[in-house]
Amino acid sequence: MKVYPLYLNGKFVTTQKTIRVVNPSSTEVFAEICTIDRAAVAQAVADAHAAFPAWRALTAKARGDFLKKIADELERRREEFARVITMENGKPLAQSMGEMAMSVDHLRWFAEEARRAYGRIVPQQTDGKRHLVVKTPMGVVAAISPWNFPLVLAVRKIAPALAAGNTVILKPASATPICAAMFAECVEAAKLPKGVFQLVAGSAREIAQEFLDNPLCRKITFTGSTEVGRSLIQGAAKEIKPLSLELGGHAPVIVFDDADLDAAVEGAMITKFRNTGQSCIASNRIYVQRGVYDKFLEKFAAQTRMLKTGDGFEEGVLVGPLINEEGLNKALEHIQDAVTHGAKLLCGGKRMNRKGYFLEPTVLADVPTAAACMTEETFAPVAPVCPFNSDDEVIERANQSQYGLSAYAFTRDLKRAFRLMELLEAGTIGINDGVPTTSQCPFGGIKQSGWGRELGVEGMDAFLETKHVSLGLGI
Ligand code: NAP
Repeated sequence: MKVYPLYLNGKFVTTQKTIRVVNPSSTEVFAEICTIDRAAVAQAVADAHAAFPAWRALTAKARGDFLKKIADELERRREEFARVITMENGKPLAQSMGEMAMSVDHLRWFAEEARRAYGRIVPQQTDGKRHLVVKTPMGVVAAISPWNFPLVLAVRKIAPALAAGNTVILKPASATPICAAMFAECVEAAKLPKGVFQLVAGSAREIAQEFLDNPLCRKITFTGSTEVGRSLIQGAAKEIKPLSLELGGHAPVIVFDDADLDAAVEGAMITKFRNTGQSCIASNRIYVQRGVYDKFLEKFAAQTRMLKTGDGFEEGVLVGPLINEEGLNKALEHIQDAVTHGAKLLCGGKRMNRKGYFLEPTVLADVPTAAACMTEETFAPVAPVCPFNSDDEVIERANQSQYGLSAYAFTRDLKRAFRLMELLEAGTIGINDGVPTTSQCPFGGIKQSGWGRELGVEGMDAFLETKHVSLGLGI
């Protein structure tokens, strides 16, 4: 079995202790990755700090050219990467290829953005002065990434942080560290100077504690659960450590009477079942207006029954396994709880009778607000649907959540679309669009879905300090 090394200060490093990586389709271990302890993480921070002055001194174009070389490597190896993503995460191969394409696009977008980290000159208030606003890199950035999009969510942090002139240490999720190890190979192939990018793995708590306590680590960027995000906020108090947090979500999908119903069904299918429902922007509540409720349910349940579920390498598979037994059990509990609260099970609802953590794609109708799945993230291919009457009612219900990451609506009414844009409490809003994320536009949450934004110009700004320089020129 292949044991993947870490990447520390320009060298691939093997250690005795490893993490075993399981394929959730077969439940078998297929690879291992080496781990390090807190003292070695402190050394990585010191090495990243030492690498910072030379990296920041490069022109933005030169840093961008390095990112483009990494992108070229990823693209050249995209099929190999996609197979590994499917092995460690379970998602269908075509979706892993989609994740590769988006990772490459993020790298190329931020390679160009490096050249556009503009400051500005501000008209003076007082004679004899000139005011400049300048942007400078922060220093060592620590990135902690989750397992559901193991490559692209890491790249969303690494690319802008490096483009801005920072050095980066990545700690990937223990369930899916192999594509991160392969990313380190691409960094090596692109010949980045030593210490500019490093990969660590091991106890998440210990590694994060070093990032939090070490004053040389200037920023932590995290994607994961709201619970861990909250613990990072508490830990950040000591050093007043800046945090970017991409946390949980509970997206509503709203289908109005006037929607193109087929497009709404298609959009709801994508928002719910892509990535086996294990996406932070996955729909968790589908509200359908009374006039089209029965028709929507009929079409949506029919299409859900047709979804082929299985090993991500099987031809035609659209839904893979859950990441582990715990994820599967949580989904089964949510289904049982909804039925106990009076929901109707239209299809699915059971673990599949095969090896692996497979759940039948599930549709629940008439789900009452009291059911756990209407407030907690299910993170599975389980779609709770319920009817609504008016715009005001559904906007209020959509906003009744601790989360505010994404929301979707299907309508042909432009006035309604503008009201939704203004009133829905979500960082990303898809109107007649189930796949809104793109490199050029900001992505992130409000309320307990997080702090800050990734992607777009905002994604670059998250890794830059803003300074005001007042020049006394006497002219
Ligand atoms: P998680 O358990 O919070 O883990 C995320 C990362 O944090 C992993 O690398 C994990 O390492 C690490 N971690 C675990 N405990 C930690 C601690 N005490 N201190 C610091 N780091 C720690 O989340 P997950 O289960 O991987 O991901 C699912 C969650 O992420 C969902 O809530 C989902 O909505 C959210 N998510 C949000 C976004 C977004 O952009 N807003 C995107 C994707 C996912 P180990 O794996 O080693 O435990």
